[in-house]
Amino acid sequence: MPIYEYACSDCGKEFEALVRSGTTPECPECHSQSLEKKLSVFAAAGTGGGHSHSHAGPCGSCGHPNGPGSCALN
Ligand SMILES: [Zn+2]
Repeated sequence: MPIYEYACSDCGKEFEALVRSGTTPECPECHSQSLEKKLSVFAAAGTGGGHSHSHAGPCGSCGHPNGPGSCALN
């Protein structure tokens, strides 16, 4: 049974949900169904679109697309 990761478009809550065919998950915080469906938790280990820490990007150290200093927030 697949587990998907969602981000609520209304409140920004991120959560994981088991999704069976015919069912629609909703945000556990605000019960909105305006959700951004992400890949499985296994494929979504990184955020920001980076596929590898070895990728040379604007940050110069981690390749974070938002520019220098963005990775320091983690
Ligand atoms: Zn929400």
